[in-house]
Amino acid sequence: MLPQNRFPPVITEYVNATSLEMALEALADGNGTPLAGGSDLWAQKDNGDGRIGSRLVNLNRIDELRGISVNNGFVRIGALTSISEILENQELAGSVALLPKVADRFASDQIRNVATVGGNIANASPAADFVLPLVALDSEVEICSNGRDPRKQALSEFFTGPGKTILGADELITAVIFKIPQKNFHGVFCKTGPRPALEISLVAMCLTGELHNGILDNSRLVFGAVGPTVICCTNTESLINGSQIDDELVAGALDMMAGEISPITDVRASKWYRTHIARTFLEQELIVCRSK
Ligand SMILES: Cc1cc2nc3c(=O)[nH]c(=O)nc-3n(C[C@H](O)[C@H](O)[C@H](O)COP(=O)(O)OP(=O)(O)OC[C@H]3O[C@@H](n4cnc5c(N)ncnc54)[C@H](O)[C@@H]3O)c2cc1C
Repeated sequence: MLPQNRFPPVITEYVNATSLEMALEALADGNGTPLAGGSDLWAQKDNGDGRIGSRLVNLNRIDELRGISVNNGFVRIGALTSISEILENQELAGSVALLPKVADRFASDQIRNVATVGGNIANASPAADFVLPLVALDSEVEICSNGRDPRKQALSEFFTGPGKTILGADELITAVIFKIPQKNFHGVFCKTGPRPALEISLVAMCLTGELHNGILDNSRLVFGAVGPTVICCTNTESLINGSQIDDELVAGALDMMAGEISPITDVRASKWYRTHIARTFLEQELIVCRSK
């Protein structure tokens, strides 16, 4: 049953776009809603989500939005690339194994086959798994609209609240782009849940950096599901960067991180539990770094 005062949106028009140009035209008046895998969108529609416009714009036939390419030291992942494609991509497995590892913790095979990277970003859930490593990799989102030049936006500045982004109603994410990491790149992704996948994260963490002799440089520490958007713990990163990881540093990093996240209590977990798990993830991964 729908919550009181919420009604399923009325979709009166359907555009099966066969080119990017056709999709952007269909979105130009701000009344269109892009449909990628539909794994979030259908649930929102049934919940009476007000974000859905009257014109559904299916992106699935737009081949130029699919695929992963590596050029001049940069990786470009098309917005319509599925999580399964990331899991199976050999080039990523060699250069950024972190991403296939995240794909391996994502939902089930059925969902991975339809769910897209662009949908994961645009949906702007604080628990969106792919956003964490992509933010940690300093990714940029490529954004297109009808009649204007494409623009790029740092993914870390893309989200403004739960389900909210800087994306205009006439804009489409076309790709996400990041630099191939250095050779001594270290990247880990941790996610709660008793099962290896099929869990919406109660807490997720991504820690990356250049690791040598127990020292992590240029670290990125990003948490999911402990705030209104994914959270970059920049003060904790500064503390970790370039310092020998010993007991004192670990204790300081845990306390600093706990002050940077803002978990809430909801039906899925308490604030206390989320904080405890966040601390456990960070402690565990810093100890791993110390021994490498
Ligand atoms: C059973 C189940 C398990 C799940 N497990 C996980 C999980 O483990 N981890 C996780 O992170 N998520 C999970 N999800 C959520 C969901 O699968 C992901 O967020 C997925 O990546 C959404 O992609 P999609 O292509 O299906 O998006 P859609 O549902 O098609 O779209 C989502 C939103 O993004 C917009 N959109 C889509 N593409 C674009 C674009 N290119 N430009 C602009 N806007 C766009 C749509 O209009 C809509 O508002 C799960 C969902 C289900 C149903």
